[in-house]
Amino acid sequence: MNIHEYQAKALLKEYGAPVADGVPVFEASEAESAAKKLPGPLYVVKSQIHAGGRGKGKFRELPADAKGGVRLAKSLEEVVQNVNEMLGNTLVTKQTGDEGKQVNRLYIEDGADIDRELYLSILVDRSTGRNAFVVSTEGGMDIEAVAEETPEKILTLPIDPATGVTEADCNRLCEALKLDGAAKEDGKTLFPILYKAYTEKDMSLLEVNPLIVMTDGHLRVLDAKVSFDGNALFRHDDIMELRDKSEEDEKEIEASKYDLAYVALDGNIGCMVNGAGLAMATMDIIKLYGAEPANFLDVGGGATTEKVTAAFKIITADPAVEGILVNIFGGIMRCDVIAEGVIAAVKEVGLKVPLVVRLEGTNVEKGKQLINDSDLNVIAADDLDDAAQKIVNAVKG
Ligand code: GDP
Ligand code: MG
Repeated sequence: MNIHEYQAKALLKEYGAPVADGVPVFEASEAESAAKKLPGPLYVVKSQIHAGGRGKGKFRELPADAKGGVRLAKSLEEVVQNVNEMLGNTLVTKQTGDEGKQVNRLYIEDGADIDRELYLSILVDRSTGRNAFVVSTEGGMDIEAVAEETPEKILTLPIDPATGVTEADCNRLCEALKLDGAAKEDGKTLFPILYKAYTEKDMSLLEVNPLIVMTDGHLRVLDAKVSFDGNALFRHDDIMELRDKSEEDEKEIEASKYDLAYVALDGNIGCMVNGAGLAMATMDIIKLYGAEPANFLDVGGGATTEKVTAAFKIITADPAVEGILVNIFGGIMRCDVIAEGVIAAVKEVGLKVPLVVRLEGTNVEKGKQLINDSDLNVIAADDLDDAAQKIVNAVKG
């Protein structure tokens, strides 16, 4: 689960991280009184959406030369003017895709005088199996590009969970970020604070891009992107309250009601599979035959007819879906239950696209029989390879 920048900053502030004062704004009429709470004369008006690249983003409704989604303002009037221009409009950034995201919240922040922009994140480093800091002197920009073009400018530092962030770790991070004086002292305090917030709140990503050195020599968290491990949210009611469903995919919200592991993707072949491993393999083989999956969907081991029906409805509700592949290995899950679910769902919502079904395992004959007896227009497949080729051909042809 992701949260907004202003929420992430409030959280980090509780842990003692240096963040600017700021006020979130939901209505344009709140802009002036919000800005008056800040010292001025430099303000920043920041679009709050669950996507990065806002500064370089463009508002669809505004002229091409209009300013982006993060704007400096030098007076209360300018704050109000920018809020009026931004709120409610659609911001398109590198991370939102062409459809962009509607800006329903803005964050008005006390502006900083920047000397240097740095990059810092904490994430799971799968090669060492540890949480790791990733830092670079090249902040404020696209870290993927830095990794590609000048990888020597990035330090990845895995942290030993038994010790946490040690003094030696802090020194290495300070060195990599070329921090000295006040900034170095700030860094030594900040790194353990961020690590503590990350681990205690079960984050899966904490990205500060940029972390800045201000002209007064001190550090400040200027941007904050936080993702939480969904499997640990049950023990963080305070974080759950920060959820902004308007930022989430409607199909994913619907799927979460039925406890389905569903992730919307960009392709055109809807997949209904049981088991995460088989779901991944199914996506891979669809790609191998030259098409793209529209989703990842694991209906789980003990799915009921209701759950399968819900899953099927979610898939067919996606207008991008031009074909559906049902790929089930019945172990705990019985093939006849899947067949019943598919049939019930098709009866309810209809079937406008080709459907390939591959069933294997417990009660497979019963499942196939059910599908044959229903007069559904189903293309049967014998194995995964056959199924993938059939659905790709059906969609293409
Ligand atoms: P992003 O574009 O979504 O990553 O949004 P950021 O919060 O990182 O802001 C983008 C850029 O705006 C930063 O890299 C800074 O260059 C600039 N910016 C943001 N806040 C301030 C500020 O307080 N003062 C100044 N001078 N620039 C800022
Ligand atoms: Mg940023």
